[in-house]
Parts: sequence; structure tokens; C-alpha cells
Amino acid sequence: MNCIFCKIISEAIPSDKVYEDERMIIIKDINPQTKIHLLMIPKSHYSNIVEMTEAQAVELGLCLKTIGEISNSLGLKEGFRLVSNKGTNGCQSVEHLHFHIMGGELLSERMG
Ligand code: AMP
Ligand code: ZN
Repeated sequence: MNCIFCKIISEAIPSDKVYEDERMIIIKDINPQTKIHLLMIPKSHYSNIVEMTEAQAVELGLCLKTIGEISNSLGLKEGFRLVSNKGTNGCQSVEHLHFHIMGGELLSERMG
């Protein structure tokens, strides 16, 4: 499949990985927009939450729970922001669901 995140998951292309389990990887964003800018990428390929199956929704819930459990060890003790862009208006550029995990500093109150 011609998906850059699937290639990162299979290690066909390198990434700066900070966490991995059976459901997901967390890597450093190649173009960080905040002091800490990570990407949580479920191993299952689907474009966005509109496309997701019920089973993938359960998996995603567990992935989010894990982010919470390991957030301190990722340097996010003071808080963080989760963002998942969808489609044209959401400015999604990679068609494999992912969550941006942003923090390491006080973020802007503006999100739009
Ligand atoms: P989005 O625009 O929400 O689809 O987010 C895609 C993100 O993937 C962007 O923040 C990119 O900087 C990031 N990105 C693209 N290619 C790579 C890569 N090879 N390694 C790490 N991050 C990447
Ligand atoms: Zn993919």
C-alpha cells in the first residue's frame, strides 16, 4: 500500500519512534510545530474516524488510554493537546488516521 505511515509502521522507511505496542506507534513529527510534537499512529490503516469500523474504534479508545498512561514519560506532565485533522478543511495531509500530540510548552488558546 502506498501509505507513508504504513511504511513507517513496517519500518520500510525510518522514523524517530518513541513508543510502540501491538496497536500503535508514537513517532516524532518530522516538522514539529510545538516543543514536543509527536504523532500517535494506529497500526490499522484507515483514513479518518468517518471511515473507521467499530473494532477500530475500540482499538483507538485503547490507544488514547495508553497515551494518557505514558504521557508523563513523554515529557507531557504539564499537559498536552491531541489533534486529528480530517479532510480538506481539516488540512489532513496523510490519509492514515493519526493524532498529533503537542505540548512541552504553553500552547496557544487559538486552535483554528
Ligand atoms: P496531517 O497534516 O494532520 O495529516 O499530519 C501529517 C503530519 O505528518 C505532519 O505534521 C507532517 O509533518 C508529518 N509527517 C509527514 N511525513 C512524516 C515522516 N516521514 N515522519 C514523521 N512525520 C511525518
Ligand atoms: Zn496506512
